[in-house]
Order: sequence, then C-alpha cells, then structure tokens
Amino acid sequence: MEKLEDYKVPLHGLKDGVHTYNFNLDSTFLEHFEETGFDIEQVEVRVELIKNNKTVEFSFQVKGKVNVPCNRCLEKMVQKVKHRAKLIVKLGEQNAELSEEILEIPELEDFDMAPLVFEYLMLSLPIRSVHKKGECDPKMIEILNKYSASEEKTDPRWDDLKKLLNNN
Ligand SMILES: [Zn+2]
Repeated sequence: MEKLEDYKVPLHGLKDGVHTYNFNLDSTFLEHFEETGFDIEQVEVRVELIKNNKTVEFSFQVKGKVNVPCNRCLEKMVQKVKHRAKLIVKLGEQNAELSEEILEIPELEDFDMAPLVFEYLMLSLPIRSVHKKGECDPKMIEILNKYSASEEKTDPRWDDLKKLLNNN
C-alpha cells in the first residue's frame, strides 16, 4: 500500500544537486483521487529533480500497464502507458501557477508530488484503447453490432438536436 506521505518532498531541506525518487503504483494509489474508470496493473514512476538554490527542476516519467475497458467490446484489456513531463518549482512566498510548467510554492512548505503523478498518469492514457485485431470478445461484438444496426434508424429528435448543435 502506497502512503501518500511518501510523495511529499521537503524541497527546502534538500541539498543542491540531483535527487531521484521511484514509486511503484498499484490501484490503492487511485483510491485517493477521483474515479478514473481504470485500474493500475503495474506502473512505475521515476522522478528526478535538480535543485539549484531556490529553483527545482523536475523530470517525471510514468511507465507501465493499466486495465481499461476496450473501446470496441467493453471487456477489460491491458493498456501500456507512458508519459514524460517536466516542471519547474520555485521556492518563493506563495502557492501560484506562474505558467503551465512553472509553479511557485512557499519556501518552507513540503511539495506534494501525488497530484502531479496522478495527472501525468491520466495523461499517459491514449484517447482510445482497443484490443488487437481478433482479440475482442466475439459475443460482445455480436451484441454491439445488432445494437448499432438498430440504432441506425435515428430518432428524429436526435436530428433536431444535431441541427441545434451544428448551428452553434
Ligand atoms: Zn475489445
């Protein structure tokens, strides 16, 4: 079980130079955040930071496997995930987002990496996950094909809605 406390780094107390952190995420990590619709099978997170006086440069690397529902047959499948991100944290006086990649935090406050790890994990997921050809559940595909065939005769109310949406 991962303790979220482990993700808090007292940046002010670190010596200048390079520091690395490694985390192995499992699904208990996700319990601390909003519902995601997937489970972690195994995800490694490597964080490297370079501290230089009051500026800390972070490199995050998220890599592993998650279980997601296939977008075609809805059965669970294993999806490989990978994401890299860089972030600069300035030790200053307040909590502020100076830009998308530069944060300021109060100098003496611990820096919590957990929300970032969660964000980068979310970003590591492809928009669409589908089984390899032939690996979808054939029964589900049959049911879905029937369903989508009958859906093709569209409800006229939907057409009206589409018109509305297109006008915007
Ligand atoms: Zn599938």
